[in-house]
Amino acid sequence: MRWTGGRRSGNVIDARGRGMGVPVVGGGLGMAVLALVVYLLGGDPSVITDSVPQQPSAGVPAGPGPAANDEASQFVSVVLADTEDTWNTIFRDKFGRDYPEPELVLFTDAVQSACGFAQAAMGPFYCPRDRRVYIDLAFYRELRDRFRAPGDFAQAYVIAHEVGHHVQTVTGVSGQVGEARARAGRAESNALSVRQELQADCYAGLWAHHAQRTRDVVEPGDIEEALGAASAIGDDRIQRAGGGRVAPESFTHGTSEQRMSWFRRGYDTGQMDACDTFGG
Ligand SMILES: [Zn+2]
Repeated sequence: MRWTGGRRSGNVIDARGRGMGVPVVGGGLGMAVLALVVYLLGGDPSVITDSVPQQPSAGVPAGPGPAANDEASQFVSVVLADTEDTWNTIFRDKFGRDYPEPELVLFTDAVQSACGFAQAAMGPFYCPRDRRVYIDLAFYRELRDRFRAPGDFAQAYVIAHEVGHHVQTVTGVSGQVGEARARAGRAESNALSVRQELQADCYAGLWAHHAQRTRDVVEPGDIEEALGAASAIGDDRIQRAGGGRVAPESFTHGTSEQRMSWFRRGYDTGQMDACDTFGG
């Protein structure tokens, strides 16, 4: 992926090194299981441990500060800027209004979000209550080592997917899904969650489409890399890797095949309308 030289977002909050002073539970396998569990539950921030009483985001600065200059934060900042350009264009064309940009918090070890307390290696998540994407960069090592999905494009895809959940929040999709899930039985509730996740994958594809058209970011092998990431963290693969039975009714992200196919759809069309995972 060609990313150097791209515009950097002003919405990155660097909270690294401001850990909450809470010991990280387990190492090795424990960490992996934590990451898996939270990724499985991705997109539903209410499941992030609520054991710590709600409080302001302790340890997280109130807003973006001076830009950090290490490569990892520059990369995240360029990818976030690409998602802003993508969604600003789409919102203007489709809704005739500005896109309310989310903030992105980089953290290490642990972080207090408005959605609860999150520990390291949980994987990235989006919190609709403070409209922030949270990323612990250690997750990228997990992605590479454990899920065998290396590469910067795979990492960018993960950010674009979380930003997709932000878009679902501001368009009202997340609210509607939440209400429908509250009324539904378990199987239907999970099915709705899958559709929501697949739409976020399709939205990640829209980012890739627009970034490619405007900045020519895609290098040979990149799309396969993103698809590899989507596939590697599909629920069926995660359940198999965990030695569990593959039970479609308990899927929350969709199968690897579904995830790849919806990402592709977003990437090929560049159209938000192509991402109606709820119709039909
Ligand atoms: Zn998700």
